[in-house]
Amino acid sequence: MNSIAARRFFRWVAGLFAIPRDNPVLTIAQYEAFSKQVPLMYAILLTNMVALAFTHAAVAPSWLVYYLPGLMGGVSLLRTFSWLKSRHTKVEAAEAYRKLRATNIVVGPITVAFTAWALLLLPYGDAFQRSHVVFFMAITVIGCIFCLMHLRSAALAVTVIVNVPLLVTMLMTGEPTFIAMGINVILVTIAMIAILMTHYRDFRGLNESRQALLDQQQALNDRNAAIQALSDENLRLANLDSLTVLQNRRSFFLSLEDRFASARSAGEPLAIGIVDLDGFKPVNDMYGHAAGDKVLVEIAARLERLAARRQPDGRLAIFRMGGDEFGLVLSRPEWACEAIAIGHEICDAICEPINIGSGSVQVTGSIGFAIYPDVGTDGQTLYERADYALYTAKRNHRAGVVVFNAEQADELSRQRIVEDAMAAADLKRELSLVYQPIVHAATGRCVAFEALARWDSPVIGKVSPGEFVPVAEHTGRIGMITRLLLEQALETAKAWPRSVRLSFNLSAHDLVSAEGMLRIVAIVEASGMDPSRIVFEITETAVMQDFEQARASVEMLRRMGCGIALDDFGTGYSSLHHIHKLPLTKIKIDGSFVRDIQRQKTSYNIVKSLLALCADMGLNTVVEGVETSGELAVLRGLGAELVQGYYFSRPLPAAAAIDFIAVSESGACRLQA
Ligand code: C2E
Ligand code: CA
Ligand code: CA
Repeated sequence: MNSIAARRFFRWVAGLFAIPRDNPVLTIAQYEAFSKQVPLMYAILLTNMVALAFTHAAVAPSWLVYYLPGLMGGVSLLRTFSWLKSRHTKVEAAEAYRKLRATNIVVGPITVAFTAWALLLLPYGDAFQRSHVVFFMAITVIGCIFCLMHLRSAALAVTVIVNVPLLVTMLMTGEPTFIAMGINVILVTIAMIAILMTHYRDFRGLNESRQALLDQQQALNDRNAAIQALSDENLRLANLDSLTVLQNRRSFFLSLEDRFASARSAGEPLAIGIVDLDGFKPVNDMYGHAAGDKVLVEIAARLERLAARRQPDGRLAIFRMGGDEFGLVLSRPEWACEAIAIGHEICDAICEPINIGSGSVQVTGSIGFAIYPDVGTDGQTLYERADYALYTAKRNHRAGVVVFNAEQADELSRQRIVEDAMAAADLKRELSLVYQPIVHAATGRCVAFEALARWDSPVIGKVSPGEFVPVAEHTGRIGMITRLLLEQALETAKAWPRSVRLSFNLSAHDLVSAEGMLRIVAIVEASGMDPSRIVFEITETAVMQDFEQARASVEMLRRMGCGIALDDFGTGYSSLHHIHKLPLTKIKIDGSFVRDIQRQKTSYNIVKSLLALCADMGLNTVVEGVETSGELAVLRGLGAELVQGYYFSRPLPAAAAIDFIAVSESGACRLQA
């Protein structure tokens, strides 16, 4: 055998006697299995020893049958107790290794002691007693190998320490029976060792595959935990508004369904609120988006604080619905009064000035509420009704709180009826225009006609534009309706003298749609009508929706040569800032001021100052809604230039409009009458 092979062989032998420590889990498993069998092994040792001492008590010296066995028995008992005590304690791999190694070391002297003791007894007694010694050694070594099968090193050590001296001693006796017994023991133990090696390998393999499985399971668990954490985070982000960190629209509807279901099953009320800011768009337009963001973040924080202070029990939850709209869900409100009180607190919180860095701005809020079970039989309806209440709040009382009530329910159901009829209507056939003259206040000469839409539905009868225009805006049909009517109006206006203009109303939606605007321009161009004969009427509310886009639209129409009139002036924002920034040509002073002009000094003063203001700014004016000669007289006194109203004429069909022009030209207009 060369030196490398010899070295390999010794390494292999050393490996057999060593305790593996590269696999901590195996070491622990080995220790646990082994520790259960150790007390059993000592029990075998003690029983066999007592039996051998007993059969030799009469023939061997006392130190061999009493004192030495007593000492060995004592040591064995101590070891047994120590193993029994630690049987149920869980150990770490290092501790298990330490204990196994200690056993590996202790096994040597103990085996030597027992072997030497047995061999010392061999010379005493007759053949039976001497055979008992061999039997003792054989049975004990087999028992021990069995008990030590999880500690291969110790089992091998015991085998070698017992078998070598046994065989040598047997051979030395020269007794054929002893020699046969010795050889027999060796052969049996070799077989036992072979079994032990296989068992040990299987034990190791089993442990390794169990470990691999556990590792796989752990990796799977780790991955699942990571996936779960990721999906939790995604869900959290999907439900949060990134700017204000409030829960978002998606979260609002989830929460609404949840809370609605609990409210219904518990028979408790539930309030849904929608908050919309008034005056947010101008902040965005004037100070930029960063300032707009600051406003939204600040208002979100105020609403959150208010919710935490007023409802620390989490009954009130705040959401950002998108844009400048917020949502609230209030569980178990003390009916409408609590919702209204919260609504007012929210309005107060919103209208506090907000610092945007370069100064401070102020916005206000409108809130619509719907309360279950007063209205709404499901979450979605409740939301729609809160939204309608908000629409009412914005329409009627800017910066107010409105709770959806029976009156609005009627309005809403009427709106639905109009919506349904419109969806089924042949609008080209059913829509028409009437024309109301705009006359020169001093001369009564007709200078223009305002085209006003009429819808005669075969299903629901005549519907006023005040009713169907908002529905058409809501359902996205307004663009198509505007184009249809504009084509009609231009066709009609062609028959008028060149001095008579056409005034045409545009909806807010027309004004903020760039694409819609281009199509309007195309229609004007295609009509062949001189654009300077066309005046488009726009409202301030429309301008406020998206100032920049509205300005771009107005500028486009102006570049074509069309006039632009600001309609219903005095009823909306009446912001000089906007009038100043838009290239307007005309202002239409709302009829509501004319109504009281003779009785109310304030109305008189308002009209007077509006007229003076427009004159200063070089803008033409039309005073709307003139119904009596008294009103006209006052307006003429104030120097009003153009007027419009039932006093001169109600809106007329196209043919009657032509007649009106003829009459006004002939001086037979009511003015002169
Ligand atoms: P508006 O543009 O302010 O139109 C004036 C409204 O006042 C008309 O109502 C007209 O009939 C009415 N009116 C005229 N003179 C008097 C008067 O002396 N006293 C009173 N009490 N009322 C008078 P109408 O036709 O019902 O239209 C209502 C609103 O519908 C219009 O208000 C306008 O905003 C909108 N509208 C009408 N036609 C169209 C259209 O073709 N397109 C769009 N987008 N909106 C339209
Ligand atoms: Ca108008
Ligand atoms: Ca008007």
